[in-house]
Amino acid sequence: MQRLALGLLLLLFCGAVSAEQVKPPKAPATTPAAPADAAKKAAVKAPVPKKPPAKELFGAVSAPAPLAARAIGSYAKGCLAGGISLPTNGPDWQVMRLSRNRNWGHPRLLDYLERLASDARALDGWPGLLVGDMAQPRGGPMITGHSSHQIGLDADIWLTPMPDRILTPQEREDISATSMLKDPFAVDAAIWTPLHTKLIKRAASYPQVSRIFVHPAIKKLLCEQAGKNRAWLAKVRPWWGHFYHFHIRLSCPPGAEGCENQKPVTGDDGCGTELANWYKMLRKAEVAAARPVTPGAAPPARGKPPLSLGDLPRECMTVLNSGGGMPAINPDGTVPAALKAMAGKDAGPPAPHLDDAALAALKAQLSGSKAGSKPAPDAAAKPVTEAGSASVPLPESKPSPEPASTPGTQAGSASAAEAVPLPDHKPH
Ligand SMILES: [Zn+2]
Repeated sequence: MQRLALGLLLLLFCGAVSAEQVKPPKAPATTPAAPADAAKKAAVKAPVPKKPPAKELFGAVSAPAPLAARAIGSYAKGCLAGGISLPTNGPDWQVMRLSRNRNWGHPRLLDYLERLASDARALDGWPGLLVGDMAQPRGGPMITGHSSHQIGLDADIWLTPMPDRILTPQEREDISATSMLKDPFAVDAAIWTPLHTKLIKRAASYPQVSRIFVHPAIKKLLCEQAGKNRAWLAKVRPWWGHFYHFHIRLSCPPGAEGCENQKPVTGDDGCGTELANWYKMLRKAEVAAARPVTPGAAPPARGKPPLSLGDLPRECMTVLNSGGGMPAINPDGTVPAALKAMAGKDAGPPAPHLDDAALAALKAQLSGSKAGSKPAPDAAAKPVTEAGSASVPLPESKPSPEPASTPGTQAGSASAAEAVPLPDHKPH
């Protein structure tokens, strides 16, 4: 059966499959029929498998590819060879949501996390890291939650300090991370502490870190608290959804072939125009989120189709196949083992929203500023992109904070995908 599935899969990826090429399932012999007729009938009835999205294939594999460690492709379009798993308990960390099996990464990421956990505790007094999603055993796209985290160089760290005891596996499934927000635009001063600021600063301080993603409100607070030494702020970038965890992205290992870095950040601390533009987007998103669905209105635009194996670098096929790990595929094109991966519980609470009075005030403010002020020049209205180029659109035109429909992510051009900050978690 596995061989059949593998055969089907290979055929699929090599090109179009006609019904005749698919070996028909053995039908129980019922009425005698001419052999040629029976073959014809069976051929017509044989289901033509759909091409499973790459996220189902990678989501179904439970062990790493037994190859030398390599981050292949880009953060949102790639895979991981020779992944290693972060031990679920370390001296200064604990891995959460073990059922997801996403505590895998490139050795560079594991070295970094162990160092950060140790330094943050010894030098800053942060009690230890609660580690969220890293990568799947062979990286690749995930069924739930992320569009990046594909090459073993991304990790989510909860903003909840580690408790002073070993959590049980069940607690690691059930405990929710803590939201740092008071409302959609501001950090809750009763929850955020100076230790949180030190932790993010520490995380950004290592040369192998390419970027750190946090919610815009957290970025704003860090801008206010940074003081004179502001160089580290350049790597700390705003992005949707990062209000109960932050996201660490490492650069490719030096000299790694086929691993695609994002452009290095500029020296700009990001506390000026960029942050202001993020706040414009946040306000619009808040109004959009509260908009009632009009009966009879057109359904919301659907996101880009999911990545297929053919969209990933060619070597990702080898990564998926190595060591006989190829997942079995149902005749209807689904991957049964992948369905289990969908059960993972969100790590944190839903994003906060304004109450009715505050929303009305925001709407009045937005329409007032539209009517009262002269139109802003184009460059000012467009958010500065991750690469600092104004030519790549950010989600301003689509105010809904739905990363799946954000330009420049999965199916965008390679340059766009590299130029904008890659989205991460889908807010629910
Ligand atoms: Zn993340």
